[in-house]
Amino acid sequence: MMIDVLSVRPQGNFRLEIEFSDGTIGVREFDFAVRDTGPMAEPLKDPAYFARVFVEDGALTWPNGYDWDPDALYDDMSSAGLLRPIEEERRIVYRRAHSQDTWHFVTNCSTWPSEHYDEATQRPRSGTICAECLAKAGLNMAVFKRAG
Ligand SMILES: [Zn+2]
Repeated sequence: MMIDVLSVRPQGNFRLEIEFSDGTIGVREFDFAVRDTGPMAEPLKDPAYFARVFVEDGALTWPNGYDWDPDALYDDMSSAGLLRPIEEERRIVYRRAHSQDTWHFVTNCSTWPSEHYDEATQRPRSGTICAECLAKAGLNMAVFKRAG
């Protein structure tokens, strides 16, 4: 099964809350960052740098290019019992006005499409995410990079 990471929220130190494309979410302690001696992992030993994680191509990624295989991460968290279904009300719904290429996910966005829109419940694979929606959602959503 191919699993993507949809979003990640740093929880302090080396803890990350991670949402997967199958609708599950969980928190994992990444103590590997302290153990891994590779040069790519070295900057991640600083909690502030570690918290700069974002999602790229469905994988946890850090600014220096260090990334984490989402399938292995999912299997690891699943077998450790760390994943739970995300509550329906927390599921993000994306809307895009017909013939537009910008996706919105915050319902109080000034341009939230209320009619003639496409809707998606997974992170869109093409187009861009609305800058106003990102701003309204706050810094935690800064992990939403341009899709595609
Ligand atoms: Zn918007």
